[in-house]
Amino acid sequence: NVILEAKQLNKVYTTGTNTSQQVLRDVSLAIGEGEFVSVMGPSGSGKSTLLYSISGMDQITSGSIQFDGQDLAAMREEELAALRLTKMGFIFQQSNLLKNLNLLDNILLSAYVAKRESRKTINERAQALMDRLGIASLADHDITQASGGQLQRVAICRALINNPSILFGDEPTGALNSKATGEVMDILADINRSGTTILLVTHDAKVAAKTERVIFMTDGMIAGEHKLGKYDSDA
Ligand code: ADP
Ligand code: ADP
Repeated sequence: NVILEAKQLNKVYTTGTNTSQQVLRDVSLAIGEGEFVSVMGPSGSGKSTLLYSISGMDQITSGSIQFDGQDLAAMREEELAALRLTKMGFIFQQSNLLKNLNLLDNILLSAYVAKRESRKTINERAQALMDRLGIASLADHDITQASGGQLQRVAICRALINNPSILFGDEPTGALNSKATGEVMDILADINRSGTTILLVTHDAKVAAKTERVIFMTDGMIAGEHKLGKYDSDA
């Protein structure tokens, strides 16, 4: 079952009156439900642009994107925002947590905003996520009291609080040391194992090696892909 399908994506940035740069060139890809996929390539190859395009955050110049049976290009901005809030989770290089909220409230916020479920259900899910990621004891801490690896776990809990069907990561381990990177990748593998589709972009081969399918990008094009066994990498 395909959850996300992009066809012939092109993205051109116009940077001046006479200058433009084509960052995505006829990129097509299909992500199956439950897959754990990474997009790897050098800095500037278009990985982030691809991620933001297929998640409906960035407008494409041409092409089509189907997510969960819906055509993203045909959706209005409010519909897209609602879709992102409820069906997609995002993690970034920086955890981007709010410093005036404690860690638990950072996790709860988007679920309270979505208003789809009772506060009881949301609170229970937050508790279960924090337990599972080993940060339950940090609930009432603020962001200055947690390490980079712990903050990234909070960001993962926040991304999962609305039970998204897909989790997107833009260099989610980019600011972490190798130990914390390994721990975050183990957590992501565990989350994928319980059914959440995951798509990461990274320039780190060790991170890509922890996923089950690696798509290589160069100069805005998909240059190839490699299937790995599910979670059998010891990289
Ligand atoms: P990667 O994630 O692989 O490092 P990006 O998608 O961030 O690559 O960037 C690809 C190219 O697009 C780079 O040359 C970058 O400078 C350019 N680019 C990215 N965002 C913008 C933007 N908003 N406006 C103009 N150019 C951009
Ligand atoms: P990364 O390499 O981690 O993907 P970048 O440092 O390339 O990130 O980009 C960070 C932000 O700056 C992104 O939001 C991207 O869209 C924007 N950006 C990148 N290159 C350009 C550019 N040439 N002009 C305008 N915005 C850019």
